[in-house]
Amino acid sequence: MDGPIHFNNGFGRQSGRPGSRQRSRQMRSPTTVQDTDVLIIGGGPAGTTAGALLAERGHAVILLEKDTHPRFHIGESLLPGNLRILERLGVLEAVAGIGEFKPGADFTAPDGNTQSFPFARALGDTPAHAYQVRRSEFDALLFRNCMHKGVDARERHRVVALTREGAMHRASVVAADEGQYEIRARFVVDASGRDGFMAKRNGWQRRNPRHASAAVFGHFRNVARRSGDRQGNISVYWFEHGWCWMIPLKGDVMSVGAVCLPSYLKTRQGDLESFLRSTLASVPEAAARMANAEAASPVSATGNYSYRSRRLHGPGYLLAGDAFAFIDPVFSSGVYLAMNGALTCIPAVEAWLAGDQRAYARACRHYRQVVNSKIDAFSWFIYRFTTPTMRDLFRNPRNDWQVEQAVISMLAGDGDGTRDIVSRLRLFKTIYYSYRMRLIGASVHAWWRRRRAWRVPFVDETLLP
Ligand SMILES: Cc1cc2nc3c(=O)[nH]c(=O)nc-3n(C[C@H](O)[C@H](O)[C@H](O)COP(=O)(O)OP(=O)(O)OC[C@H]3O[C@@H](n4cnc5c(N)ncnc54)[C@H](O)[C@@H]3O)c2cc1C
Repeated sequence: MDGPIHFNNGFGRQSGRPGSRQRSRQMRSPTTVQDTDVLIIGGGPAGTTAGALLAERGHAVILLEKDTHPRFHIGESLLPGNLRILERLGVLEAVAGIGEFKPGADFTAPDGNTQSFPFARALGDTPAHAYQVRRSEFDALLFRNCMHKGVDARERHRVVALTREGAMHRASVVAADEGQYEIRARFVVDASGRDGFMAKRNGWQRRNPRHASAAVFGHFRNVARRSGDRQGNISVYWFEHGWCWMIPLKGDVMSVGAVCLPSYLKTRQGDLESFLRSTLASVPEAAARMANAEAASPVSATGNYSYRSRRLHGPGYLLAGDAFAFIDPVFSSGVYLAMNGALTCIPAVEAWLAGDQRAYARACRHYRQVVNSKIDAFSWFIYRFTTPTMRDLFRNPRNDWQVEQAVISMLAGDGDGTRDIVSRLRLFKTIYYSYRMRLIGASVHAWWRRRRAWRVPFVDETLLP
């Protein structure tokens, strides 16, 4: 770095006070260095949750978001497990105000058989509903909330480099209107989502070779909703090359998307909207619901999104939410996992700030165990979701020994919950494996097709509009 380094030790501590945002809107010199307890990279659900909770506990927190809220983001269907965290953050009522009430999930097999799984039937004390939200509104609400709690949260500030300087981290930041500057932080929470700021730069990110898929999605008006108490349910439809979703949002808007194998995506001719529409046309019920649909947003695509980082934490840093891992959208688990991870990491951050190495190691162990067990609870089902066996079991649910209710608990975010749930999910897995033996021919055929499809590499053009 050229030129002298200027320290401005008080900046982070001032950050929570009213007006701190205005104060920060001045042109910064590249040599300006600001000190803070905690630097959070990313202002999505993980970053804003961690920020709000840390600021509430009196820590100086700077949160940097490269974008400006409100901004579009995929990931609109929340889980009942989110509700407790939203309540803890003090935003549950506000989210209810912008959200569509979601009492459960519907799964429709290719033959049109639909089964509903209402969260009210989950085991234990899982909340009986969730919400579906426009992420632009939801993330902006969480961002405002963390500013209100005292976080110095800045938009259009992108972290471009992160290095170690003794016990501190030094981040280089490019601010759209204010030039370049540096931050020295005692602790860094990487909540940069799929950008995977630390995991990519350090080579920790591992793509999941068994789960290469792509999603094509957009918002539509005039999509028929289900009737009665299922009208807020997320609908999931299996089709030959994957599955598609319909997520009712507040107002007359439906989030519609299809997740498919790369080999199928390669067959696309025409633009993404036509591709999405023709894919839905192959699913009779979805096609009927889409009969009068008009696009309310551009249709976009994203691919090859399944990965996990080899590292979750280290000396003075940890990864939270998608910055660590993302598996698949099928059970709407992403935002819940991101926020739950952010909630669980707080004791580790505090132990580090208190200089207690043993407590830090203990808290990191706990954080790792919670994050991995939540991801694993979903992953087992996700990896098998498009198999003939899973489709048949969802098509003909049976509640012997409350196994179906345990599956609903998994869908609600409690798959690693109480012993009752975990033991019943084990039983479900045994049922799955024995049932698979009865469908061995179809299972082997489906596995072979998926294997072949995963060999088709993703090329960026495949996903362009
Ligand atoms: C097709 C698809 C459908 C999905 N559907 C659902 C669903 O229905 N329900 C659900 O719960 N989840 C869903 N997800 C997952 C969900 O989108 C994510 O899991 C969730 O957004 C993770 O939150 P996060 O805070 O970790 O990351 P993000 O929400 O991505 O937030 C990260 C933030 O960091 C910012 N950032 C990145 N790099 C930098 C940097 N260098 N400097 C400053 N800021 C930076 C980004 O701009 C972003 O705002 C879906 C995902 C996909 C791919």
